[in-house]
Amino acid sequence: MITTADEALLRRAIGIAARAVELGDAPYGSLLAGPDGTVLAEAHNTVRRDDDITAHPELKLARWAARVLDEEAAARATLYTSCQPCGMCAGALVRSGIGRVVYALATAQLVELNPASGAWPVVAHDGPALFDEARGPIEAYYREG
Ligand SMILES: [Zn+2]
Repeated sequence: MITTADEALLRRAIGIAARAVELGDAPYGSLLAGPDGTVLAEAHNTVRRDDDITAHPELKLARWAARVLDEEAAARATLYTSCQPCGMCAGALVRSGIGRVVYALATAQLVELNPASGAWPVVAHDGPALFDEARGPIEAYYREG
């Protein structure tokens, strides 16, 4: 359920997206808030500026949360973002331990507004293979003392 307080923070994330456009960056903005609504960090998309395909705001904030917040604080934090996180960012958000995501535009709505955004493609991949060789480093690392 999205509350009035959520909507206020979501509007702030949309404002970050609008400022990103003014700066010449892609129109995506996000912020991370604590349980009382305090804004902990903000970011916008800098893929072009940084020449970095991973410079999505949600990924930046997931990395920030994993570095700065302890497990409990991350779990109590909410990421507010102007668009639904992509697959890359969704994975990072899970790993960061951030407890909740609230977004404005769903991916389908974004694609409707800008068909060039497209659905997220799937990379061709093959596997599994070489199990006996590949298991060595895994077992060595995770072997219990
Ligand atoms: Zn993303």
